[in-house]
Amino acid sequence: MENKLTIYNTLSRRKEKFEPINPPFVGMYVCGPTVYGDAHLGHARPAITFDILFRYLKYIGFKVRYVRNITDVGHLVNDADEGEDKIAKKAKLDQVEPMEIVQKYTNSYHRNMEQLNTLKPSIEPHASAHIIEQAEMVKKIISNGYAYEVNGSVYFDVAEYSKTNNYGKLSGRVLDDLQTNTRELDGQSEKKNLFDFALWKKAMPEHIMRWNSEWSDGFPGWHLECSVMSTKYLGDKFDIHGGGLDLQFPHHECEIAQSKAALGEDSVKYWMHNNLITIDGQKMSKSLGNFITLDEMFSGNHKLLEQAYSPMVVRFFMLQAHYRSTLDFSNKALQASQKGYERLTDALNTLEKLIPRTESTVNVNQFKDKLFSALDDDLNTPILIAHLFDGVKMINSIYAGTETISTDDLTYMKNLYKDIVFDILGLKHETSDFGNNEILTDVMDLLLNIRTEAKQHKDFKTSDKIRDKLNEIGITVKDTKDGSEWEIK
Ligand code: ZN
Repeated sequence: MENKLTIYNTLSRRKEKFEPINPPFVGMYVCGPTVYGDAHLGHARPAITFDILFRYLKYIGFKVRYVRNITDVGHLVNDADEGEDKIAKKAKLDQVEPMEIVQKYTNSYHRNMEQLNTLKPSIEPHASAHIIEQAEMVKKIISNGYAYEVNGSVYFDVAEYSKTNNYGKLSGRVLDDLQTNTRELDGQSEKKNLFDFALWKKAMPEHIMRWNSEWSDGFPGWHLECSVMSTKYLGDKFDIHGGGLDLQFPHHECEIAQSKAALGEDSVKYWMHNNLITIDGQKMSKSLGNFITLDEMFSGNHKLLEQAYSPMVVRFFMLQAHYRSTLDFSNKALQASQKGYERLTDALNTLEKLIPRTESTVNVNQFKDKLFSALDDDLNTPILIAHLFDGVKMINSIYAGTETISTDDLTYMKNLYKDIVFDILGLKHETSDFGNNEILTDVMDLLLNIRTEAKQHKDFKTSDKIRDKLNEIGITVKDTKDGSEWEIK
């Protein structure tokens, strides 16, 4: 399929045609989670946004290497250069080894991502497994004159870098403002400038996650891992770097500076950021009590939730907003999405039942063009979904007999819905309790045949028992003039 994709590049602040550096290969790096707690709604949005991009790039024929990291060291509380490591802090609290925390929450993150039906990245590197490479990059930055050592810690020299580079070009921050707005914290006085950031930190005696280096027993700065692991697996120059808008500054700004200072050129062609999630209009935070984990979302076990919301409803809900818009979670909005999602899946079932005629009164080609131009327009999933609902009306009109569809068009339409809904949007029928959907269909056919035979033999005890037992487990059986139909309630 022809590549007509345009994406919004945060760096140039405009939509650009997507042209990979070395087609048909596409390198994509997305900042993954810091694994010190259960995954929450804030983790779901970048995972889903870049999953759609990953799926679509593959769909239009690219060979994509998708790297998403696991941060398991160096991310300090308050995202600052001083203080405890988030993972070490949690390990102390739970009285376990830090790597137990890393394993536990990596596992639960993977479980949640699988529930949301996101594809696994091609490579999922851990920061703690790349300490040597990180130390190598620190050495390069020092020898290129953009970093300095003080008391066993190494800091990036932002002022020196800014003489020939534009620090702030991604986030739009201005150095003078940064100087006046950066708060002085304990220990930061060893930096030349408050806005300098740590590449390597000497570990305090109580700091348990530490590695030997030529500067000190210490650990890498948080931003460094992404400069190192992205270029290690995707090359010095690669196509796409993604992440949440909250990472734009300082994390991504620092990443740009580190990579340029070490490698002599900008590494990333397209920077993409998904916007943030609010809950009933407020920022999600533990202190406001509106912090909802994905497990709570799927079980409904949270005081703000009126019911459980299934992974596909959450996924569908997220896709109903453009990834660059903020997304507000409320019970009302989620319930509306649940209804919408049901309407869409009902139409998919109806599509399977349509009977073709010789002529089409509907324009399937035009419909297809609309769907793909929405996707090509910076992954405009809300517009795409609006078009899919126009298609639902079309399907229902054909079913009702007010429109007709030819055999070829019907096959085309079925494939189109399958491609868009399942392959690209990554939605799926939620029958996980029943396992494989095809097996379920076969088993139901068998059961309903037995029931029909029982009725023919006037064995109403058996036929009623099958209907009632199915009803108990959540499957409704309706008798029609040709036999019977069933659906999951
Ligand atoms: Zn990162």
